[in-house]
Amino acid sequence: MLINPKVKNLIPINNLEDVYVVADFDWTITDSNSELSWEMLGASKYVPSSYKKEKQELFDYYYPRVFSDSSDSKTKVALAREWYEKHIGLYIKYKLSEDIFTEAAKNKEFMRPRTYVIEFMKFLHENNIPLIIFSGGVGNFIEKFLENYNCYYDNITIISNMFEFKDGIAIGLKNDVIHTYNKNESSIPKNITDRLNNRNTVILIGDHIGDVAMVDSSKHKSVIKIGISTPEISKEVLSNHYDIVLDENESYKDILNYLFK
Ligand SMILES: [Mg+2]
Repeated sequence: MLINPKVKNLIPINNLEDVYVVADFDWTITDSNSELSWEMLGASKYVPSSYKKEKQELFDYYYPRVFSDSSDSKTKVALAREWYEKHIGLYIKYKLSEDIFTEAAKNKEFMRPRTYVIEFMKFLHENNIPLIIFSGGVGNFIEKFLENYNCYYDNITIISNMFEFKDGIAIGLKNDVIHTYNKNESSIPKNITDRLNNRNTVILIGDHIGDVAMVDSSKHKSVIKIGISTPEISKEVLSNHYDIVLDENESYKDILNYLFK
């Protein structure tokens, strides 16, 4: 665990009523061998290969553009939205059903929890600490994952892309698209922000550099940013953006022990 000395005076956190947690989902709550939530249906045997081909074409076109260093942020936001809308359009075009979401989610090999993350969520629940899960992924799979592990507690709010179904067939999202560039506190519904306003310490957990933007540090008394390294982003790179950085093989037990001992 790499620890920036500037957070050492914030730790251990004794007043649990002053805290809430904001976490990314894909590869932060799941491990980095897991399928990303947008890949769950593609990884299953329930969708046609023509869907997979079109999805891949979208990826090949948009990925380099959305994450390009050379375009301005306004262009990237517009491209991210366009990509998401086109991918959602494929779900509608191929009439993907709620049943295949359910079947794909049953395969526990697709999405595996990081070590001790289930216990971490239980700890938050037992101590009435709100957990906001922000994800540009597919919220339906986040819900099913939490249900699979019996940890969809009432202190958890999921802010993600929730597919809506009519007669069992996907017809679009229930909410406005949540993507890489708008998964932040501005997307938290008012009834939830009211519950967070009297809490001054935010623990942010992510695996990607962009995840640090989930919380605007200037608006909070203290924000502790925890990054988990994956084969895609090294500990050294993450340490330029996060206060505490974990190796892949370190676990949420290390986070709990360090923050709350
Ligand atoms: Mg992630």
